[in-house]
Amino acid sequence: MKKICLISFLALFQLNLLGQNPEKTDPDNRIEWWGDSDGYINQQAKVTLGVVNDVLNSYPPTLKEPIERKMALLMIDNVLHEEKAPYREAVQEFFRQRIRKAVDEIRKEQVTEGAVIWQLYNHAFVVKTRTVTLGFDIQRGLPGIAGFVISKETMLPLLNSLDVLFISHIHQDHADEWMAEQLLLQNKPVVTPPDVFANLPFYSKILHPERKAHLIHEIPLPEKGFNLKIVNYPGHQGSTILNDVTLVFTPEGMSFIQTGDQSNLEDFGWIDSVGDHFPVDVAMVNSWSVYPGQRVAHGFRSKLTIAGHENEMGHTIDHREPYWLNYLRLGDPATFPWIQMAWGEKYHYLSAPNKQ
Ligand SMILES: [Zn+2]
Ligand SMILES: [Zn+2]
Repeated sequence: MKKICLISFLALFQLNLLGQNPEKTDPDNRIEWWGDSDGYINQQAKVTLGVVNDVLNSYPPTLKEPIERKMALLMIDNVLHEEKAPYREAVQEFFRQRIRKAVDEIRKEQVTEGAVIWQLYNHAFVVKTRTVTLGFDIQRGLPGIAGFVISKETMLPLLNSLDVLFISHIHQDHADEWMAEQLLLQNKPVVTPPDVFANLPFYSKILHPERKAHLIHEIPLPEKGFNLKIVNYPGHQGSTILNDVTLVFTPEGMSFIQTGDQSNLEDFGWIDSVGDHFPVDVAMVNSWSVYPGQRVAHGFRSKLTIAGHENEMGHTIDHREPYWLNYLRLGDPATFPWIQMAWGEKYHYLSAPNKQ
């Protein structure tokens, strides 16, 4: 009986039961995927991420996430935590389309109050206020996978919008030499630790403010005609990799800190007291390194934390940090308010706490 069934199944499959030629059928109209597991998974990712896009548009980042938004983020985690995910066309298109949309918004957004903050890929953030546009760890994707790199044409409007770029450390999921060089060509400052791009011709133009806790530097913005106040905290990834944790003060009196891949216990010597020295509005922290008891949040005492570094596709699945772990890692938002953002999403931060 089993044999007969199998033979009938194969015969039907050969004849193509549904009269479709999989080679020629538009995947969006294809109603059977027998024998094409790869195609099936890609199409499932496409359908899933399409729903995700719709849900994210209706439920933007917020302190109290509705269940719809939680489900959308979980769906992203599920699609992206698969070995072949960065190679799948559906994932690549989702990535490119979301970054394109964000770049367009960054270019057009007229900020009159507070700051609008975009999370791009991985731990890349753009903070735009009425007077200045800050870039942190902006890079274009996975250099080894052509479909997972944002094109230079897409990035040009972003380059034109940025006034300064801060690069936390040397790793390529944070540091993009093309981005840095283009900014420098536009006479806009690029700030990095001293070991980043050390062999490249434009190295001498990069700014390396002293890495010292609680010391204020002034970074000239020649194209804007004013200086930006920053503190360049001497962070590390592990015990040896230099990782600038930069606190930036905007002319409006707001402050933003981004942690790069900060992860070194000894650095709590200064992390624990950042909030004693300066008010911090928004901290953009690497989600995988917040430490028990919200120690980073205790140190910064930021009015808002934004988790970052989720779903960096160059990492293996075990360190391709998901959104769902943020609930455990960052704790109850009532204690230290925090939000999480998908690729390309934005959040309008208003400095008065009652406006959040
Ligand atoms: Zn790193
Ligand atoms: Zn990283």
